[in-house]
Amino acid sequence: MNTYTQQEILNSFRGATRSEIKRVTFAADFAAVDFDRLEYYGWHDRKIPRRAYLVVDRADGPVALLLTRAEAKPRGRAMCTWCNDVNLADEAVLYTVRRGGAAGRKGDTLGVMICAGFGCAKNARSLPPAFHAATDLDALRGERIADLRRRVHAFVTEVLSTEG
Ligand SMILES: [Zn+2]
Repeated sequence: MNTYTQQEILNSFRGATRSEIKRVTFAADFAAVDFDRLEYYGWHDRKIPRRAYLVVDRADGPVALLLTRAEAKPRGRAMCTWCNDVNLADEAVLYTVRRGGAAGRKGDTLGVMICAGFGCAKNARSLPPAFHAATDLDALRGERIADLRRRVHAFVTEVLSTEG
């Protein structure tokens, strides 16, 4: 994805109130984020428990969303629905996002089960070692990255679909 400044990200929030955006705290390592190698950028708010954020590139610019981590842990190990990480390196948890427009203001949310630490991009690029030598690993990696991008964008499109 494109590289963004903190201000550009703050300007791109949808479905969040002005006071919520004011309280956003960026990750301490923000300056080191390599946006080139990400299909989305997610981080946790160090100052607000269970609050996290997500930024994606869209055709008309970046979109940032406010996430709330569900209180209840899923039973057993859940698989991330975006990267389908088979190594389960990063536990999947349920995040909810307020929907766009009036629906979101009324409290409508969408949930998504994804890597708690937002490691999907890294997971999509790291392949299990057991693949047959004849497997075209670059093609496989490309497919996994494309799948991840498609799923992230489908979710964000659905979140924003209720905007007037
Ligand atoms: Zn994931």
